Amino acid sequence: MNITYHSIPKTYTDKIRQSMHDDFGHPVEVSIAGETGYGPCRCCLKQFQPGEKRLLFSYAPVNAANSYNEVGPVYIHEECSTYRDSSTFPPEVKNGRLPIRLVLRCYNGERRMILARFIKDNNDAEKMIRELFTDPLIEFIHIRNAVYQCFIAEIRKDQGTGS
Ligand SMILES: [Zn+2]
Repeated sequence: MNITYHSIPKTYTDKIRQSMHDDFGHPVEVSIAGETGYGPCRCCLKQFQPGEKRLLFSYAPVNAANSYNEVGPVYIHEECSTYRDSSTFPPEVKNGRLPIRLVLRCYNGERRMILARFIKDNNDAEKMIRELFTDPLIEFIHIRNAVYQCFIAEIRKDQGTGS
């Protein structure tokens, strides 16, 4: 099984940066990260450094045509590149400048949440994800902040059916 990690697509974050409005009618808010404003940026998946400029907007990470659709606030850098090392759990989400408590939310093929698990030790995250994906009903998983509940990144599986 091939497991990959994805931030918000660059086409989407670039649209937000250009229009400075989100898809829910709100102006994008600009602020400066403080000591405790770690983020992470949902584009490059790096934690904010104090003094960095960041943009706040509303995002619907589940993107579902059902009741599980939800909208929440996310931060991105004013300018950065998308997280590209998709085969690796984002290192600054796991062990960055500040610790982030994480939860894994598991969704089925109808984009409905069917399971959620706290990550007690972030170093166990990949092992937990591999175990969760052995359930054939789980199509994708979200990494969320366990305290603030906001979306961080999406995890996908590719069964490698061959080509
Ligand atoms: Zn960034």
